[in-house]
Amino acid sequence: IEFVRAAQLQGDEEPSSVPPPSAQAQQKESIQAVRRSLPVFPFREELLAAIASHQVLIIEGETGSGKTTQIPQYLFEEGYTKKGMKIACTQPRRVAAMSVAARVAREMGVKLGNEVGYSIRFEDCTSERTVLRYMTDGMLLREFLSEPDLASYSVVMVDEAHERTLHTDILFGLIKDVARFRPELKVLVASATLDTARFSTFFDDAPVFRIPGRRFPVDIFYTKAPEADYLEACVVSVLQIHVTQPPGDILVFLTGQEEIEAACEMLQDRCRRLGSKIRELLVLPIYANLPSDMQARIFQPTPPGARKVVVATNIAETSLTIEGIIYVLDPGFCKQKSYNPRTGMESLTVTPCSKASANQRAGRAGRVAAGKCFRLYTAWAYQHELEETTVPEIQRTSLGNVVLLLKSLGIHDLMHFDFLDPPPYETLLLALEQLYALGALNHLGELTTSGRKMAELPVDPMLSKMILASEKYSCSEEILTVAAMLSVNNSIFYRPKDKVVHADNARVNFFLPGGDHLVLLNVYTQWAESGYSSQWCYENFVQFRSMRRARDVREQLEGLLERVEVGLTSCQGDYIRVRKAITSGYFYHTARLTRSGYRTVKQQQTVFIHPNSSLFEQQPRWLLYHELVLTTKEFMRQVLEIESSWLLEVAPHYYKAKELEDPHAKKMPKKVGKTREELG
Ligand code: ADP
Ligand code: MG
Repeated sequence: IEFVRAAQLQGDEEPSSVPPPSAQAQQKESIQAVRRSLPVFPFREELLAAIASHQVLIIEGETGSGKTTQIPQYLFEEGYTKKGMKIACTQPRRVAAMSVAARVAREMGVKLGNEVGYSIRFEDCTSERTVLRYMTDGMLLREFLSEPDLASYSVVMVDEAHERTLHTDILFGLIKDVARFRPELKVLVASATLDTARFSTFFDDAPVFRIPGRRFPVDIFYTKAPEADYLEACVVSVLQIHVTQPPGDILVFLTGQEEIEAACEMLQDRCRRLGSKIRELLVLPIYANLPSDMQARIFQPTPPGARKVVVATNIAETSLTIEGIIYVLDPGFCKQKSYNPRTGMESLTVTPCSKASANQRAGRAGRVAAGKCFRLYTAWAYQHELEETTVPEIQRTSLGNVVLLLKSLGIHDLMHFDFLDPPPYETLLLALEQLYALGALNHLGELTTSGRKMAELPVDPMLSKMILASEKYSCSEEILTVAAMLSVNNSIFYRPKDKVVHADNARVNFFLPGGDHLVLLNVYTQWAESGYSSQWCYENFVQFRSMRRARDVREQLEGLLERVEVGLTSCQGDYIRVRKAITSGYFYHTARLTRSGYRTVKQQQTVFIHPNSSLFEQQPRWLLYHELVLTTKEFMRQVLEIESSWLLEVAPHYYKAKELEDPHAKKMPKKVGKTREELG
């Protein structure tokens, strides 16, 4: 692949002051010496003084300057956790919360889960003693439910604020309010070098504390022509860099687990074939669901003579810093949620990243020495096709969850909530409508008893509703399993390239009439019968890790059943009851087969069954889907066959008998759409 050098990201260090890649050197130094070497360290006293004299402080600093790992420790050392008070530090990503907490525990020489811990959804690694709490922004949000004034916290640090996740944005509004009547609470908003002025304005002109970064210049290269297959282009470019460029590790940005796994496999494959013709290349993935021992590997120093390539999601853009990166390879894409408030359809699509994002990525190459960033798109595309910044999540996601939470916190007037950027009016309205349809709100928009219960469960309102409905249909055992399996979605089946046929056969063996939710139930039940065996997983091409996680999630949800007054009952094989309970939660997500394929029932959108679905070939007349994913088409993922009469049974206020009639019932063709083979 041919690259042209087109620009340089300015650094504030001279390229000649370049130290050798420092990973090995750092390993030898003591952990305390590393702490003292971070850019934030010389500002320790000044920073603590600023925190002491201001209630709200915005902290801006280059990625890797020590904001996340050091500032909470400084506060701890300064005595902010005396009298049992706690410090919260929020992260938009689960992986970051876990990894950073582990690092800080090591720096402090304590066991993770004692003084330092983390808390993410379905996983709590904290104890009575935990005073430094790293947590996802979503978890702190839920903390408001049990402690609306955050009384046990002396400091709340909203970290990675520039990410502007939905939960971070909501936290801003809530924390600003709490800060008004808790003058002793310290609020820190930490961010990479983006957007800090806006945060300052939002918090009544709070001062901005800047930590000067250490940045070496980064040369930026673009491809001469657009690349059609960026995955293949990535693999080729990595090898190209490996063979032609001086030592230094490589960081590649891809969009998700599947892509990362595929790229790693391709890389390992080609390295194996090249054998001793090239130097050793260590291929390391990092994404949200990667088990933590594998995650830790990316931080280990590269052995002498070898080169490391880390294949990462956006997580490595600002949340994690990997030492020794000199080369960044950026295809220019990320996975982004978008939401259409008119149709209520949420989809996850691979889209071009923003310029801000591309520049953050490039910056990763200039942390330890002058670096190079190879962009797998043209300079023209950068100029003309990339947006300046990423749209905040609050403007491109459904708000059901957050609205339910705010309502449970007694915040009724959502239109006038203090948003940094308000969500679209239609989105808010639709969330209210959906919660009303689910029975969580009454016609005055007030929380109902059922709504209060739904808010207790740490899952989406539709999933909550499904769990609550399992009481009525006496099938909570099965529904808990379905809920847990849906939470680890899409990573259940294992499909190694060299055993595709075996893997597909194994998957088909789990098929049950009725649809994918029952298939998930079937997999889990058989696994449980095997004694939760890893051998069983291996033999059946099922991912043991995902199953173990599903089991954890299931246990946690089971522990919450009592709180929401649902008893443990089993349907004893009467799957109609399970399907009706699912329908009670997901009646919004329904589609019917028409002469021109599937259409969503209310909005008449054209949608398709995902080729991996157990119902792909059956094409039942009525179905519900768990989610829509837009790739080449709008695919429904995890679909369940239903009967239209059930919709009247579970949501009589939402559906009218007339719209569920089948005018063409007799003339329906037997099969619509292509077969699995035709789709390849
Ligand atoms: P910031 O939040 O400003 O981006 P961090 O506090 O996350 O910076 O990181 C500071 C430094 O700590 C990084 O440069 C990196 O060297 C080190 N570090 C962070 N996490 C780990 C880890 N898990 N393992 C090893 N080093 C780490
Ligand atoms: Mg950080």
